[in-house]
Amino acid sequence: MVKLDFHPAGRHFLQIPGPSPVPDRILRAMSYPTIDHRGPEFAELGLKVLDGIKQVFKTKHPVVIYPASGTGAWEAALCNTLSAGDSVLMFETGHFATLWKKMAESLGLKPEFIGLPGVEGWRQGLKPEMIEARLREDSHHSIKAVCVVHNETSTGVTSDIAAVRKAIDAAGHPALLLVDTISGLASADYRHDEWGVDVTISGSQKGLMLPPGISFNAVSPKAIEASKNAGLPRSFWAWDEIIEMNKTGYWPYTPSTNLLYGLSEALDMILGEGLDNVFARHNRLAEACRIAVNAWGLQIQCADPSVYSPVLTGVMTPDGVDADQVRKIIYERFDMSLGTGLGKMKGRMFRIGHLGDCNDLTLMATLTGCEMGLKMAGIKLKASGVVAAMDFLGSQDVPLRRS
Ligand SMILES: *Cc1c(COP(=O)(O)O)cnc(C)c1O
Repeated sequence: MVKLDFHPAGRHFLQIPGPSPVPDRILRAMSYPTIDHRGPEFAELGLKVLDGIKQVFKTKHPVVIYPASGTGAWEAALCNTLSAGDSVLMFETGHFATLWKKMAESLGLKPEFIGLPGVEGWRQGLKPEMIEARLREDSHHSIKAVCVVHNETSTGVTSDIAAVRKAIDAAGHPALLLVDTISGLASADYRHDEWGVDVTISGSQKGLMLPPGISFNAVSPKAIEASKNAGLPRSFWAWDEIIEMNKTGYWPYTPSTNLLYGLSEALDMILGEGLDNVFARHNRLAEACRIAVNAWGLQIQCADPSVYSPVLTGVMTPDGVDADQVRKIIYERFDMSLGTGLGKMKGRMFRIGHLGDCNDLTLMATLTGCEMGLKMAGIKLKASGVVAAMDFLGSQDVPLRRS
């Protein structure tokens, strides 16, 4: 038997940048009995979530929901719009951009990976001017898509997607714009239509506060047009049949009914609080977190303040200190999970998630666990980050919003 109730007294602090803690309200909604996905009640649920999720993506066009993790939605975006051998331009913002590039290769695409060199590149946002310059060179338009990550979860950097759109337009290039905001959606400002994105990819287990298991493609009319001639094989991921059946609130195959109950509840919470209020809450908590890291005298992974992530903060440990050892102490002593360093940053940083169902006291407890753990790991801290963050949060009169 798998032991699932291994947690000691109190609640576990799941402060990784996804999956994020699932609010009780959503867990309760998910515990309703599973219904007939071809029955009369289902259509009401289907139509509600399909409409609500469009508001979160800020699109008037279809959003496809898959019973899959975010990786599946990546694959769906590529195989619905592209053909074998197509060149795609990708930007190396971090580990997730790198994984997406690997997927493009394994699907038979030709990714060209540009970015700033070395570890320093993983401390910056993507550079639209580099994308523009590369597209200008591509006078025969052999590049079919530009693929970028909005919120790079491995580093804590949120890039400017509107600027990428501008860069593509400035180069007069017809490439599609595909954007991964798996960890950005419902935490960081995002505007699918206004920013001219062709396919936006997202997932359930980050800002949407759901368990892992469903993921999304928001698709523009241009992306749908491209899908008519796209040659990569697809069946499960094919948009056309799903979009057609979604018009009546149904899916061609069995959707994740109980996760859709959860999505319905999450939409009530997020749209009830108001997207702008949700973003302001995330920005404020992220700022408090960075104030703490700065007070400790530690480096924030993101080196450019204009692209700090509202979702998570990457904290670099001093030279010679294994960040995973710090994480281990905090996990074993305080029952808190922090994100590990991924790819090039393995052992050199840990990630504090402050997304989704998070408030002032959630963050303060998280920072307290970090501060105690850092000290236990023998790291000399300049000052108390907890006190600094508390002073910042406590000095602001921010009303609690109930949805
Ligand atoms: C979490 C994440 C993924 C991977 O999603 P899965 O649900 O684990 O498949 C991809 N990209 C980004 C930016 C992510 O944060």
